[in-house]
Amino acid sequence: MIAWWRLGRELDRWAAAGRRPRLWWRDDDAGDVTPALEALLGLATRFQVPLVLAVIPASAGLDRLGDALACRSGIFVAQHGVSHESRRHAGECDTEFRADEAPAAIASRIAAVWPRVAALPGSLKLYVPPWNDSHPALHLALRQAGFEGFSAGATSALTGLGMRQAHVQVDLLRWKPAPRFKGRGACLARLRRMLARRRLAGDWAGPIGLLTHHLVHDAASWAFLEELLGRLHADRRVEWLDPAREFSRPRASAAAADATAA
Ligand SMILES: [Zn+2]
Repeated sequence: MIAWWRLGRELDRWAAAGRRPRLWWRDDDAGDVTPALEALLGLATRFQVPLVLAVIPASAGLDRLGDALACRSGIFVAQHGVSHESRRHAGECDTEFRADEAPAAIASRIAAVWPRVAALPGSLKLYVPPWNDSHPALHLALRQAGFEGFSAGATSALTGLGMRQAHVQVDLLRWKPAPRFKGRGACLARLRRMLARRRLAGDWAGPIGLLTHHLVHDAASWAFLEELLGRLHADRRVEWLDPAREFSRPRASAAAADATAA
C-alpha cells in the first residue's frame, strides 16, 4: 500500500542521517478492566511497546485496574483530570478546569485525587488534561501540585512550563460527529508528515505521540493498531521512548551525585 511505502521512504531518510525517530504511545480514559483494556494491554505486551494509560481518578474500577497492572511491565499510568466532566461555559471548548479559575483551587482538586493514581503500578507524576486542554491557570496549578510531566495535544508544546513534556500528534480517531477510525491512509500520512517535519527541523529527539482511546475503538481501529505496532516492531527503525525517563525529573539524590561528580 502506497501509504506504507511512503512511510518507509521517510524512515529511510532518518536512517540515512544515522537517526531513529522517538515514538511514544498514550491511551486515554482508562478507569476499569474491560475486554477492550485487556486487548490494549495485550498489544503492548506482544509488541513490547511502552504504553501510558491516562487514567480518570474518579473511576470506580481503579482497584481492579491496579490488580491487572500489577503483573504487567512496560505499562505506565498518568492522571487524566479528576472526574473528566466538562465545566465549560456556553460557547467554549470542553474543559474540566476553566482558564478563569484560581490556580490554587484547581491545584487542590487535582492534588486531592492524585493518591488514587499514585497507588496504581507504574504511576508517573504526569498530567494529561481531558480534551487536551491547556491554559496558564492549569499550568500554574500543576506546578503547585508538584507534577513533573505534562502531555496534551499536537499544538500544546510550550516553553518555560517547568515540566517535562511530550504530546500526541497522531490520533487514530476522528471525533465528529461520533468517534470512528480515521483511516489507515490518513493515520500513516500524518505520522509520515510528523517525521518529515522533525527531520527537516533537525529536531531528531522530539517525541512523536500516538493517541488511542481503547473504549471507543471500532474493529478497523483495532486492526490498524495491531498492524502499525507489528510493522514498527518488526522494522526496528524507530525507538519507543521510556516514559519513566521521559516524564520524571531526575531524583534529588541523583542530581546531588552529579553535582558531586562535577
Ligand atoms: Zn479523556
